[in-house]
Amino acid sequence: MPGAFRLPCYLAPFVNVPDFSEGVQCQLLSTWQTNKHVMVAIDQGLLTIFIKIKAHRGDPLNEQADRWADGGRQSKIIQWSLPTNRPIFYWTNKDTTHQSPMNPTVKKRIDHQVSLQQLKTQKGSTANFLTREDNSRDLLGKFHKDRSVWIRARRRVLQCLSYQFPCALQLKQWGILKDVKCLLCEKYYRERNISEPPDSIKSVGHIQCYCPALQLPRIAIHHGIWRELMFSIRKSSTKLNDASEPRWHFPSALSPEAHAEWGLYKILEYMGLHEILPPGAGKNRVKLRKDIEEYHIAYAIDFDDSVIDTFIARRLDGLAFDKEQKLCVLMEYTRAMDTAEDWAERKEQEKNDRYGPLIGFINHLSHQEKSGCKAFQTNFTTGVRGSLHTNQFLTRLESLGVKNSNTREAIRNRTVQKTLSMSDMILKFFFIALNSKTDWTLQNLPTEIVNKNMERFNLHLQPPRM
Ligand SMILES: [Zn+2]
Repeated sequence: MPGAFRLPCYLAPFVNVPDFSEGVQCQLLSTWQTNKHVMVAIDQGLLTIFIKIKAHRGDPLNEQADRWADGGRQSKIIQWSLPTNRPIFYWTNKDTTHQSPMNPTVKKRIDHQVSLQQLKTQKGSTANFLTREDNSRDLLGKFHKDRSVWIRARRRVLQCLSYQFPCALQLKQWGILKDVKCLLCEKYYRERNISEPPDSIKSVGHIQCYCPALQLPRIAIHHGIWRELMFSIRKSSTKLNDASEPRWHFPSALSPEAHAEWGLYKILEYMGLHEILPPGAGKNRVKLRKDIEEYHIAYAIDFDDSVIDTFIARRLDGLAFDKEQKLCVLMEYTRAMDTAEDWAERKEQEKNDRYGPLIGFINHLSHQEKSGCKAFQTNFTTGVRGSLHTNQFLTRLESLGVKNSNTREAIRNRTVQKTLSMSDMILKFFFIALNSKTDWTLQNLPTEIVNKNMERFNLHLQPPRM
């Protein structure tokens, strides 16, 4: 429109843009950008009009908040800063009293206090999960604030913590879905022609810990977390023995990328409990079988050939030896669903039941040979949603020679962060697997996961054996 003056119009973001008449230029800008543009416009002599939009005027809750603020201002207990005349806030942290007018720290403290007070009044599953003591809850916030973690991963962790992850079970509870069956299981069993698959409910726990189609990435993730944890223990186990040598040896922790899984035969050999016969003719194997049989008979434990086969075939996640004290520690790692209150205790019991006979046998043999060796078991158990028994974990690290308390804390921190990242990866794998063949391998995964995350987390997936 010739002759009309140019009227610049700048709006803060999130404001609806009305239908402006011709000749008006309109842009959505941030406050900072607005200031800059306004200054330029004024310099150019353009007519510049500021319009204040009273967005909250008349809103009942806003009016109420204003009345409370007015009331608060009259309170006698408030102290005011001079000369800025702002209220001063007080708080105590680790027996030290701090004071300050409103600033980002005060805001954070207020948010924190409000959350803590709210949490006390809540009785739901999320509140129950978050208030569970001695479960490394302090590290959840750290993960959430970690800007190096993808925002979507952090959101998914929040969804899982607050029982809002859109798995079939949840969607059914919300009335969105009727069927709670796992589609991946259905696909998996159909591809294998298994006509009556076991009932599988698609819940977060099923995806994380049980869905058979995800076994391969689950094993890779298990090893990924464990290798790093075991290697950290080995690296940080600095306790010395009487001869001023490192007290503990970790023969299964090879590097953050690799570990060895020792079987019974190798353990006995290392401990000098098994006479090494010249190779050939399977004499070593025959001797070991005989020893195991004798152990079962001596303790009146039922057994058959398959029991002995399982005994010999067992592979330990990790081992620690103290040669001077003649101690052998069988280390086991588990990543479990942490919904039930006794999630870790149940898993540890399972692990103890599984390896108890093996320990019994080693100790029996040691007693027989009068070697003075003693075997026992130490479990490390992390929860899918970042749970980890703080005190128990730190004590176990200490018992394996990790002397420095800061190092123990750092290992705990890293283990939880890694478990959370890995759990998120399983959720991603689930949806990838839904859209591809269930026999997928590393090659079927998006290159971004393979290149970045696999290397970052020391994961080395093996293609399935055909
Ligand atoms: Zn499934």
